[in-house]
Formats: sequence, C-alpha cells, structure tokens
Amino acid sequence: MATCPPVGSRSTATSENRRALKVLRTRGELRSALAAVERPLGLVPTMGWLHEGHRSLMSRARADNATAIATIFVNPRQFNEAADYQRYPRNEGRDLAICEEEGLDLVFAPGVEEVYPPGFDTVVSVGAIARPLEGAARPGHFDGVATVVAILFSLVRAERAYFGQKDAQQVMVIRQMARDLAIPTEVIACPTVRELDGLALSSRNVHLSPDQRAAAPVLRRALLAGRDRWAAGERSADALREAMRAELANEPLAAPHYVSVADGSTLAELKGVEGPALLSLAVRFGETRLIDNEPIG
Ligand code: AMP
Repeated sequence: MATCPPVGSRSTATSENRRALKVLRTRGELRSALAAVERPLGLVPTMGWLHEGHRSLMSRARADNATAIATIFVNPRQFNEAADYQRYPRNEGRDLAICEEEGLDLVFAPGVEEVYPPGFDTVVSVGAIARPLEGAARPGHFDGVATVVAILFSLVRAERAYFGQKDAQQVMVIRQMARDLAIPTEVIACPTVRELDGLALSSRNVHLSPDQRAAAPVLRRALLAGRDRWAAGERSADALREAMRAELANEPLAAPHYVSVADGSTLAELKGVEGPALLSLAVRFGETRLIDNEPIG
C-alpha cells in the first residue's frame, strides 16, 4: 500500500474554533444530525484519500458557512472498470483525522447499500455536456457521478457544495444536473491545487512509480505551452493542440489519451478560439490515467 502525507502537519482550524467531528453512517443519523445544525450548510463530496485539493474545498466550505460537512464515499457507479474501483486508495482513519483538522462539523461516510439501497433503480443521465472528453473516454462515468451527487444533494440539502476545477467537466455536469432537477444547492468551483512542480493533486497520483511521478508534470507543461501560444495571439485550435502534443511527445512515459481545445460553455471541440475555452488533457502513465485542464479567454 502506498504511503500518504502525514496528518497533523498543518491545521487551518485552531483549537478554539475546532469542534468535535461527528461521523454519520446512515441516512437516519445524517437526518438527525442535520436537523440540529446552524445554516448555511456547506457540502464537500469526496471519495476519500484526502489531499491538499480536498483540504482547500473544506477550508472554503468552513469559511463560507456556519456548518461544514464532507462526504466520503467511493462510488462504485462512476468507475468503468471493477479493477479500478477495487484499487482506488482508501484510508478512512487518516481521512477523518484530516476532516477534523480542517474543522468540519460532520462527515457522512456511508456504506454502498446506504447510498444505493436494495431495489435502487434510477440513473441520472446528463445530456450534451456529459458526452465529450471524460464522457467519451469513460462511458457511464458521468451517469454514476450525476446519480450519486443527486442523491447526496437530496440527503444533505446544503446551501452550497464545493467542487474542484481540476475536474472541470464534472463541475459543468453537476451544475446542469442541479439546474435541471431544481436542486437549490449552489455549485461552487474552487481552483486546482498543485504540487510545486505543477502536477495537480489527485488520489490517483499514489499509483505512479517514481519514474512516472517524475514524468507527470508534463501535463501542466503541455497546458502551459497551449496557453502561452494562445496568449501570444494564436487563435487556431489545431495549433494549440499541436503545441500541447509536442510538449507531451517530449516525455516517453506519457501516453496521451486526448488533447482538447473546447468551447468553455459547451465543451464542443473548436476550430478557432474566439471566446472562453478550455484546454484539457488526459494522459496515461502505465495503468494510471491523469487529467488536467486550463481555462483560457
Ligand atoms: P475525489 O475525491 O477525487 O472525487 O474529489 C473530490 C473533490 O475534490 C472533487 O470536487 C474534485 O474535483 C476535487 N479535487 C480533486 N483534486 C483536486 C485538486 N488538485 N485541487 C482542487 N480540487 C480537487
């Protein structure tokens, strides 16, 4: 099992403002705990194996709201391959210590049957925004994401929910889902937290070998190469894709999956970049697939 960074190395919640963390396992426990909390309530959905990216969402939820809750649930429905679900890293004890350090009030950490009780038979399937990029690369992935987030939003009924811009398409899918299903929770996107060498923090980074880890910042370099070309006045999307591909080609361990220059609102692939756009990449390093993105315009 891979090692993870120490808990307790830093703290945003001081001993005075830190409250006792309540861990809830069932819908009933969650309902009772929520009945007693001060509003507004901020929600941070996660799959655990928490890192600085998750911490940044928690600290924002803590700062913006009277009460902050995280969920820790590795959602089987959003994995395309059973093996990927099985090998997803888990360490609940460490995750709960981080939630406490971040000053959260509540954590909902249910089992699979608590989220999907026997007889569960609904899929929330978002349309066009869920189809390209990660939707095309991972069939069914966003159905799984939208379904679990709809359930979590309904159970928690938070005023606000916090997501990482690192998963830019996921934020767009969840916004569309909440709007269409008339769920009043406001969806807030927070900036991507990176290692010093530019690699976006991800629970999946733990699977990288030392060589792959050393190679992985090429994602960031490729995105910056595209952004620099755009900042220098290049408006041909193909030229920007080529700049990103050329940077990736310098790294033999990197196997690009997609290199995209897409419209910032629809995620349709562009010919020319006239307004807000999203540069995004998916790259494999052995068995581990990493994604990253950079908005421009
Ligand atoms: P996950 O546990 O991977 O499902 O991620 C839970 C939330 O944390 C999602 O909203 C992610 O977008 C967000 N997140 C993951 N990595 C980062 C990061 N490096 N910076 C900011 N947010 C992140």
